Amino acid sequence: MNATYDAIIVGGGHNGLTSAAYLARAGKRVLVLEKRHIVGGASATEEFAPGFRNSSCSFVVGYLRPQIIEELELAKHGLTIKHIENEFFALSDNDSMLLTGDELHDEQEIGRFSARDNAGLERMRTMLSPLSDFFARRMLRPPPTSKGGWRDKLEWARVGLDLMRLSREDRYRLAQVMTQSAGSLLDRYLESDQAKLPYAFGAISGNMNDLDTPTTAYRLLHGQLCEINGISGAWGLPMGGMGAISDAICSAAESRGAEVRTSAAVRRVLVEGGHVTGVELEDGEHISARAVLSNADPKRTFLGLLDEEHLNEGFRQDINAYRMESGTFRMNFALNSLPNFTCKPGVEIGPQHEGMIYILPSIDYIREAFNDTRMGNWSSSPIIEAVIPSVHDDSLAPAGKHVMSISARYFPRHLSNGRSWDDCRDEAANCIIDTFNAYAPNFRSSIIAHNALSPLDLEREYGLTGGDVAHGQYELNQLFTMRPHPDAAGCTTPIEGLYLCGAGTHPGGGVSGIPGYHAAKLALRSL
Ligand SMILES: Cc1cc2nc3c(=O)[nH]c(=O)nc-3n(C[C@H](O)[C@H](O)[C@H](O)COP(=O)(O)OP(=O)(O)OC[C@H]3O[C@@H](n4cnc5c(N)ncnc54)[C@H](O)[C@@H]3O)c2cc1C
Repeated sequence: MNATYDAIIVGGGHNGLTSAAYLARAGKRVLVLEKRHIVGGASATEEFAPGFRNSSCSFVVGYLRPQIIEELELAKHGLTIKHIENEFFALSDNDSMLLTGDELHDEQEIGRFSARDNAGLERMRTMLSPLSDFFARRMLRPPPTSKGGWRDKLEWARVGLDLMRLSREDRYRLAQVMTQSAGSLLDRYLESDQAKLPYAFGAISGNMNDLDTPTTAYRLLHGQLCEINGISGAWGLPMGGMGAISDAICSAAESRGAEVRTSAAVRRVLVEGGHVTGVELEDGEHISARAVLSNADPKRTFLGLLDEEHLNEGFRQDINAYRMESGTFRMNFALNSLPNFTCKPGVEIGPQHEGMIYILPSIDYIREAFNDTRMGNWSSSPIIEAVIPSVHDDSLAPAGKHVMSISARYFPRHLSNGRSWDDCRDEAANCIIDTFNAYAPNFRSSIIAHNALSPLDLEREYGLTGGDVAHGQYELNQLFTMRPHPDAAGCTTPIEGLYLCGAGTHPGGGVSGIPGYHAAKLALRSL
């Protein structure tokens, strides 16, 4: 076939762009087609009120692989990431917890709540450490596919070797972490809620599950696999917002000759004789390519972009049953004052404003928040994660003003009694504002403007089915060689020449670039 492009990437999220950059770097003719007016998908920066810009969806970075930053020369393409240290938990009207990453400081802080938990934390971290190394190694390797070729056999052998390198005790702990709930893992090592909270939050982050759901212990561990500027376990803020990451990757791709078209929605992936031949755009244009890499989530790709006849019914049913929902409601605020927390007063920049901010007073608060959702309601007292990037980055707001990101949960995609998010968005946004205001009473009056993205908005505007921030739940049957399906593992699909390159494939969500990297490497084998 005389195709116009070697590869077309459907979707210009940061993973699609990563694929494009690696393919272009290898000398391939690449076209990225993004349906929105800008690239980045869930890693974008947008003006949400006149003069105020902020990350629209994702708001902190930790998973982006140093190897990708280096190989794509992202610093040269404008990316600077500032490491953020503090985690501030508003616990009540008069108590808070501040973790700074300084060992002595954090031990004293935890020691206020339990005489035993510093030792418990040490034991838990020691237990998790070899498991983290195991998963970090696996993240950068593609999982074996179901094709069963020599590469798959070699990859299984590598998995086996990695398992054998673990001690007998570590293998036992690994089996536990993969199957048990975060709640029982934490109870095994810690007694105070406060010592548990940072880990408990990680376990439910982007995950529509309770702390007591089996396999959430793995999500807890996954949350620890971050690294910024050589500091492991750290998170950071890209200067210019999360869009700066996508823009830098886009620039790296374009500098190697990749073409990027925005406002170009793909309607269908074209297939002839079991092999991909190109795509059809919403406006009817056909573009041919030898390979197509889909950055759209697995449901959109297999059930939306491919004609039914190209996939067997069992596979389609499995993809239909693939769980996509993360219960996230995302808001951005333009503020004329920093929040003045009752438990940590002050409107001048202080440690409580400099890093991650959590309205998460107790472990039961998480359980109650989840219980509300069982009957199709949102949490009446939502868990709030916030960050104020303008404290570190004056490019986002006018002088003296601030922008704040809030991600709140749990907000189910489907509400009871046929209610639509279009009717409930404002009510839910008010509930989030009220919750934050209860801890920082100047908050509501300091709001100049805000925007609100319900799960429906995340689905409609950002293409995230079910509003799922990670293109699929972190559950054992949706991980590794089963993400999103054994017949579509490791970026492969049942269609020759069609690859998955987004967060719906191994190792999952977050701004990491890894799925995009794996997909490009795989596609290059046949291009
Ligand atoms: C509210 C929210 C908060 C988050 N917070 C964080 C965080 O703080 N840190 C973190 O690491 N991660 C966070 N995440 C998760 C992270 O942002 C995502 O997992 C990640 O960005 C997914 O990247 P991706 O490139 O695989 O897919 P996406 O970013 O979803 O990109 C897919 C792209 O494909 C496009 N597309 C889809 N269909 C078509 C089509 N038919 N034609 C053309 N284009 C199409 C979409 O428009 C989109 O641009 C958050 C996500 C959300 C939504």
